[in-house]
Amino acid sequence: MRNPVGGHVPVAGGLASTGLGYARELGAETVQVFVANPRGWATPTGNPAQDERFREECAEGSISAWVHAPYLINFGSHTEATVEKSVESLRHSLRRAREIGAKGVVVHTGSATGGRPREEALAQVRERMLPLLDELTHEDDPYLLLESTAGQGFSLCSRAEDFGPYFDALDHHPRLGVCLDTCHIFAAGHDLTAPGGAARTLDELVATVGEGRLRLIHANDSKDVAGAHKDRHANIGVGHIGQEAFRQLLRHPATDGVPLVIETPGGREGHVADIELLKKLR
Ligand SMILES: [Zn+2]
Repeated sequence: MRNPVGGHVPVAGGLASTGLGYARELGAETVQVFVANPRGWATPTGNPAQDERFREECAEGSISAWVHAPYLINFGSHTEATVEKSVESLRHSLRRAREIGAKGVVVHTGSATGGRPREEALAQVRERMLPLLDELTHEDDPYLLLESTAGQGFSLCSRAEDFGPYFDALDHHPRLGVCLDTCHIFAAGHDLTAPGGAARTLDELVATVGEGRLRLIHANDSKDVAGAHKDRHANIGVGHIGQEAFRQLLRHPATDGVPLVIETPGGREGHVADIELLKKLR
């Protein structure tokens, strides 16, 4: 299948029983989950029975799984306590990902807080994030996927070319990859709706990080116009990105084999419609 299509699924009540139950209702071919409260620092242990069922059912259904690390993580923070918690939180997501058989962990690229220069923040990314990548030595360890932001504040990575210094800071580690969020990249100023805009954006990304690094797409439409630096997801086709841009994205060689995960509003009904539409567009 060129592009498996699925969604971020709730897991309160059990990774397998709730998460995969919801995935089935959506007709999802891939799933993304949280393994901790996304707005907290807790690092809960999993439920071994649910973990095992999750791994088995994903394998049986050929469903790839992805973990989204908590939102509070910021490796560019000038506050040491935040950086320390970021390390522990991301290490936890990576460990849990391996335990549940997930292929990758998505982490936000963060921002340079406290007025510090970007170079200083990136040096800290190297110092604190690179060791976590070096811990990924098993064959079944997940990839670490960097997700750029909509470009608010002192974001370290929002435009395609910003992945360059970030990848440099992490020595282009073999376990490093990219999760492209269509809403974020659009908000950061890449107009996916301009003639050739989607292809140009992907070309720029590949020119920056190389081939084979794009491993996941967060397929979200945008409630705001290109370059608005606003992170407000819309249902596919009804935002400012529109169906045609998604159709173009799905024709580019860089997206061949890359799963699409929706993180859109609208509850079950909205999710079912988004997944159906993306399957039609692929
Ligand atoms: Zn996203």
